[in-house]
Amino acid sequence: MRNVIILGSGCAGNTAAIYSSRASLKPLVVSGHEPGGQLSITTLVENFPGFPEGVDGPVLVEHMKKQAEHFGAEYVNGTVIAADLSKRPFRVNIDGQWEETRALIVATGASARWLGLESEQKLIGHGVSSCATCDGVVSRGKKIMVAGGGDSAMEEANFLTRFGDVTLVHRRDEFRASKIMLERARNNPKIEMLTSIVVEEILDVAQGFVTGVKLRNLKTGETSVRDVDGFFVAIGHVPNTKPFVGQLDLDPDGYIVSHGGARTNVTGVFHAGDVQDRVYRQAITASGAGCMAAIECERFLEAEGH
Ligand code: NAP
Repeated sequence: MRNVIILGSGCAGNTAAIYSSRASLKPLVVSGHEPGGQLSITTLVENFPGFPEGVDGPVLVEHMKKQAEHFGAEYVNGTVIAADLSKRPFRVNIDGQWEETRALIVATGASARWLGLESEQKLIGHGVSSCATCDGVVSRGKKIMVAGGGDSAMEEANFLTRFGDVTLVHRRDEFRASKIMLERARNNPKIEMLTSIVVEEILDVAQGFVTGVKLRNLKTGETSVRDVDGFFVAIGHVPNTKPFVGQLDLDPDGYIVSHGGARTNVTGVFHAGDVQDRVYRQAITASGAGCMAAIECERFLEAEGH
């Protein structure tokens, strides 16, 4: 029987692990399908306080993990596939193995959203990717396309100009991206921007790799084909809450609904990070949320006499 299981090892999960291990709760951290969370697939983080020169995302998150382990947190590789929160102790199924715990911190984050095209899904790993830092290098010297109009799309487009010429395609004329990120992309001579254009199909499934895209202009209805060798999807994220459907209160998009502080609708189950936060979604806010969840968890266990 565990005192607390922390699901997720991004900024939220790792910070919750640091706090709860320092409170001698010996947390078990389940690393999830993306160990280290979103920072593990980013490059330089320039807005995490304390690093005037910036810090590499994977380094920052690895340091957090080491800090938690130093105080007794235990990490296990795996993903939660089911949970029973109907009674205590709670039960969580980690890749087929049930574990019992007195308290639970859900810090499972959010995963990349896809366009949902059949051709896109078939070509993932064959020129289609949701992670420029992971797969950009294979596009070296090639024609690259990035879909999206938010900060992620701007960041990925800028990053990918290291490897080739980039076309950014966005479905509207207005951008969701912050002014600074948008300007950086607009001022980059290696980035071309196509707006009010949607991707209808990614070619060529028959050949088994990306050769181009079929586009449709939403204003004129005109369709066209462009040659590209790499296609990066950067259109936001969806929260990882599948195992909790019907047990935790979720909003229509699947984000956990907070019941104040880090509390969910189930006493003893706490939320932390992007799995609940659809507004700020920053490394520092996720860390702050992990801290809150750990403190509330500690108080809950203490009140229960553990
Ligand atoms: P986002 O802000 O939600 O933007 C998603 C973009 O994808 C929007 O432009 C959206 O278009 C488009 N989109 C969504 N679904 C689509 C679909 N089915 N087909 C075509 N386009 C679609 O997501 P994000 O860019 O990942 O950013 C998430 C958060 O992280 C934001 O708060 C952002 O500021 C932050 N972030 C910060 C940094 C940084 O500061 N370094 C870097 C990355 C992310 P519409 O605009 O038309 O809805």
